[in-house]
Amino acid sequence: MTKIASIEPILARVGIRNQLLIKVTTEDGIIGWGESGLSAREESVAATIRHFAEFLVGQDSRKISRIWQESYRSQYFEGGRVLTAAMSAVDIALYDILGKRLGVPVYQLLGGRQRDAIPTFGCCTGKSIDEVVDNARTLVESGWNSIRINSSGFETGEIFDPRASLTVAAEELIRIRREFGPGLCLGIDLHHRLSVAETASFCNMLPQGTVDYIEEPIRDESPEAYASLRTLTHIPFAIGEEFSSKWQALPYLERGLTQYMRIDICNIGGFTEAMKVAGWSESHYVDIMPHNPLGPICTAATVHMAAAVANFSWLETRQTSVEQLGFHDPVIFPKQVQMEGPVYVVPDGPGLGVEVNEDAIKNQEAAHVEPPHLRRPDGSVTNW
Ligand SMILES: [Mg+2]
Repeated sequence: MTKIASIEPILARVGIRNQLLIKVTTEDGIIGWGESGLSAREESVAATIRHFAEFLVGQDSRKISRIWQESYRSQYFEGGRVLTAAMSAVDIALYDILGKRLGVPVYQLLGGRQRDAIPTFGCCTGKSIDEVVDNARTLVESGWNSIRINSSGFETGEIFDPRASLTVAAEELIRIRREFGPGLCLGIDLHHRLSVAETASFCNMLPQGTVDYIEEPIRDESPEAYASLRTLTHIPFAIGEEFSSKWQALPYLERGLTQYMRIDICNIGGFTEAMKVAGWSESHYVDIMPHNPLGPICTAATVHMAAAVANFSWLETRQTSVEQLGFHDPVIFPKQVQMEGPVYVVPDGPGLGVEVNEDAIKNQEAAHVEPPHLRRPDGSVTNW
């Protein structure tokens, strides 16, 4: 009766983007929900989920870690972002099922909760320096003591000119720090658009104490590049939202290359992999600062993980008054994790604590959303 009876990927438009959910049903009728995080390439993940269903249907839904291993290693070519995004959704759904089966919240399956509420950082951006500062003020006045900006200087259409954009970003950070003082934790997401030298120049534009961390200034394929950058600035780094396994996270911890672990539970491989990375982070006195840019299932899974780990800083939230993204639509998700001011309330019901209105979500026809393809002023390719 505990066997997996069916696995169904559901791709739907929710708010400004698509969400790839997964519905796993057991022979005794328990339904588990998961979410996958490879935004903009959801069709390839959905196809992988259908491949996995070929050998997962009929397996014991309680063998979660074994299913992780078999999914990762069964096709000879181990791992990779598409596979682990699919595995993440399956893993989260199996934890949801196990929690419902045992009548306990998922955090109880992870060792129990270490905190009563989950602090968040608020995100803000804008079309101008003034708008970014105004949005930061709104967040601070709403109770956030930790915010992260995406600079208006990075919102320049299809052309990204690093020097011009970084000048704007530096002014925003300096103004926010001047207005709110040292009591505010202030970070900036640089969306891995820069080179090592550009990042070092940016750090030199900032008086000491302006910023508490910079998030992903460069791409993460090369730990050596981050090791080089680490010698060029004293500012802490927040890296890891793109990691798709413990092996990608490993050099960043062992070599002291990140000071916050930006784990994404919907990409790294679900609870099974995320808890291992959180544990290794703990052993290096690195707090996790999870990436959480998706819908209520991602948020709920991340909240349960955040409740259960010792080493935690802030969870990203996209549910503040300065962003209208529509990812947490209450019609589609009539039950979901709730916020009280700047914290998420840890849910105490069985499983993840999320209900999906299946009629509503199946009416949300997905249409492909392609991220912007940015160019440098000379026409060459740069990251979004
Ligand atoms: Mg980021």
